[in-house]
Amino acid sequence: MIGITVLGSTGSIGVSTLDVIAQHPEQYRAVALTANRNVDRLFEQCISHHPEYAVMTDVAAAEQLQQKIQTAGMDIEVFAGVEGLEKVAALPQCDQVMAAIVGAAGLLPTLAAARAGKRVLLANKEALVMSGQLFMDAVREHGAELLPIDSEHNAIFQCMPERFNGLENGGVEQILLTGSGGPFRAVDPAELVNVTPDQACAHPNWVMGRKISVDSATMMNKGLELIEACWLFAAPPEKIQIVVHPQSIIHSMVEYVDGSVLAQMGSPDMRIPIAHSMAWPKRTSSGVKRLNLFDVARLDFERPDDARFPCLRLARAVAEQGGTAAAILNAANEIAVEAFLGEALGFMDISRVIEATLSDVSAQAASSLDIVLQADAAAREVAQQHIDRLTAK
Ligand code: NAD
Ligand code: MG
Repeated sequence: MIGITVLGSTGSIGVSTLDVIAQHPEQYRAVALTANRNVDRLFEQCISHHPEYAVMTDVAAAEQLQQKIQTAGMDIEVFAGVEGLEKVAALPQCDQVMAAIVGAAGLLPTLAAARAGKRVLLANKEALVMSGQLFMDAVREHGAELLPIDSEHNAIFQCMPERFNGLENGGVEQILLTGSGGPFRAVDPAELVNVTPDQACAHPNWVMGRKISVDSATMMNKGLELIEACWLFAAPPEKIQIVVHPQSIIHSMVEYVDGSVLAQMGSPDMRIPIAHSMAWPKRTSSGVKRLNLFDVARLDFERPDDARFPCLRLARAVAEQGGTAAAILNAANEIAVEAFLGEALGFMDISRVIEATLSDVSAQAASSLDIVLQADAAAREVAQQHIDRLTAK
């Protein structure tokens, strides 16, 4: 029986993970479930999945959950705060950790899973974008396994040689990272000024949390994924080409020196990469509807439009720069997206805030976790100042 801790179990990826676990009760069980402050949802999940531990980051929410669990007479230990998250990421009875917290908040618990030598199922791309080499070193030093959940990186992983040992050794020419282009791929740029959060979150192919949905609309998601791919596959940014593919059927491709291009395809449903990573190197069913190529009928490809999506240019520059630049970009993006979702910032201002923050906060070598966390904090403060200035006008 494989024990799984699901960090961020109440989110979009968390719910899909619990769905796959529930399909294989003889093979997998949820050891611990965690959420930020959604007490009712986490309590419902406790009833249906019987974990040993439940964690709420918010202390008041943890107390409420504790009450409910006690009243229901359930035998579940409740923890609070980031320490609680780190504890359940490192439990001896946990073999795999689904890292599905959104944003920088996931960094410490995801790192704790790596340091405990777990199989880390990485959905929380922001954690890797921020900490880069430090995270990859922790994985190696503690004998952890890192399996990508992001559909593109999972596709690339599946298309890479079996014992991957660097692009060159594997005869890999380049990685083709696909993206749908989001809801505004073909919208007149003049109309983007007045876009609402609900419009930005209406993704054509995927149902996801609100933060990643906005990232998809600005294409910062593809920018973060470019940086994520550099770390996961030890690839310089120039070896990664972004390809817009509106149907989201091909999830990414690997091109070899002999001209072969391998692609992984499937319905746009995150249960595929989740089931793949849980069962790897074996395969298990995911509950996803079979891909019907006759219904798909056609696959289109386009070059990304950097003028329409400035976040792509910013992310590529940051990938080339290295150091804490990626943590600064990520923090500024989180603050700007939050302001946009709270209707305090215009859609087109998201990239402006990020660009201004990157020029104000200077990047350093990311030589320790403290330095990364300081860069994150400094960038949040500066980004907020830019937002205040932009919205005061
Ligand atoms: P979501 O918003 O639906 O869920 C986020 C989860 O994180 C929730 O369980 C929430 O309680 C928890 N959380 C939020 N803030 C927290 C905090 N401060 N402390 C602790 N927990 C906190 O997000 P999602 O769409 O499931 O995405 C999760 C991660 O997976 C993101 O990093 C995203 O980029 C990545 N991802 C998601 C998808 C997708 O299809 N949804 C695809 C690829 C990658
Ligand atoms: Mg993705």
